[in-house]
Amino acid sequence: MSLSRFSQLAPEAGSVARGWVKVPNVEPAWELPAVVVRGAQDGPTLAVTSGMHAAEYVPIEAVTRLTRWLDPAALRGTLAAVLVVNTPGFYERSIYVNPRDGRNLNRSFPGHPDGDPAERVANFLLEELIAPADAYVDAHCGDLIEALSPFTLWTRAGEGEVAQSSRQMAHAYGFEHSLGVEPDSVPGAAYASGALRGVPGIIAEIGQQGVVDEASVQRHLRGLQNVMAHLGMIDPLGPLPPPPLEMDQMVWTRTDISATYHPTVAVGEDVQEGQVVGELRDIFGETLRTIRAQASGVVVFLVTSLAVRAGDPLLGIGVPAGR
Ligand SMILES: [Zn+2]
Repeated sequence: MSLSRFSQLAPEAGSVARGWVKVPNVEPAWELPAVVVRGAQDGPTLAVTSGMHAAEYVPIEAVTRLTRWLDPAALRGTLAAVLVVNTPGFYERSIYVNPRDGRNLNRSFPGHPDGDPAERVANFLLEELIAPADAYVDAHCGDLIEALSPFTLWTRAGEGEVAQSSRQMAHAYGFEHSLGVEPDSVPGAAYASGALRGVPGIIAEIGQQGVVDEASVQRHLRGLQNVMAHLGMIDPLGPLPPPPLEMDQMVWTRTDISATYHPTVAVGEDVQEGQVVGELRDIFGETLRTIRAQASGVVVFLVTSLAVRAGDPLLGIGVPAGR
């Protein structure tokens, strides 16, 4: 199977290559730090991205370590990784978006070769990295202003073979929660665009708030290794992880006003629909809104910034399957 632009980095079996891959037709230049590890033996191609959100450091560190840990002589198949997708935002420490056009890259797929910079980058990654692969992992964590409970996200995309393969990858990763959602539940996400093109894929999230904590890096790395073992690319490193709590919906609560945010729940906490989960106040401390849980489930995502803007998310509640 050809990996097009990325395969040119490491055309020889049993080799590793690192380099910058330039996205065509984006000025000023938008270059992607990429690593291709081509195994000595045949096997599937796994595409991996991190740094779609530039200040999500745990996955960037974990994917970088994976590329340095893999031994091409023992690898079956190929790993093709982009370590930081949002390179213009990296040294800016951009939250959510890229500084070129203010767009969230993981809401810009499938993108367009003639669109704005985010759409061009998205389209390039879809056509050159994700669609030619046999499986795809998009590694994330909570952003600079987010806490989260570890989870994997995959798309049901018609309940077919691709959905089942994505679900198995999500479970192999070994995180606490596995969320199977409709492909349009997060419009423009890379993993869903890949799945719609027939490539099983997941988002995996652990870590938060700009902290490169070693425990989360280790668990992200182990998740990637577990998926590679599941795909037959490496030997298993240990027993299978315990099965996750399966969820089938993420219910987001957003703010309609710019305010200060005072959540009263923590990530991982069980909440009941209607329960008070926080307040919005004005800058003088006057209560403007009481925030109530919009579903019963587990607080998977929680914004931890005092300042929130109208339209911003406040929290995400994962609803366990069958509830
Ligand atoms: Zn992210």
